[in-house]
Amino acid sequence: MTTIPNPYIHLYNTSRWKKQRLVQLNNYPLCYNCLIHNILTPATVVDHDIPHKGNTTIFFDETNWRSMCKTCHDTKTARIDGGGGRPINTDYSVITIKGCDGSGIPIDLLHPWNKN
Ligand SMILES: [Zn+2]
Repeated sequence: MTTIPNPYIHLYNTSRWKKQRLVQLNNYPLCYNCLIHNILTPATVVDHDIPHKGNTTIFFDETNWRSMCKTCHDTKTARIDGGGGRPINTDYSVITIKGCDGSGIPIDLLHPWNKN
């Protein structure tokens, strides 16, 4: 498996981000996406709702941050942010993950079950 280097690693390595990331995870300790589906999952990642693409204003804008679990973040990054060389999907309102909620309803908002 090939790992693509993060071109914005210098932003994630700043003391400003490291401090603000911890404040975000302390204030919002549960995964934003899982919580929508009434699933309580500890958040370990601070996601940028709108991809920052190196723009420091967007990167440090805390209104653009969402606490997420790694599974939701990785799924969102792959499907919405264009991770792994995929084209960027500009419908930022759609965050999808595999599985079902406690009622057996597919969590994936793109699943045909959720089309009505
Ligand atoms: Zn999650």
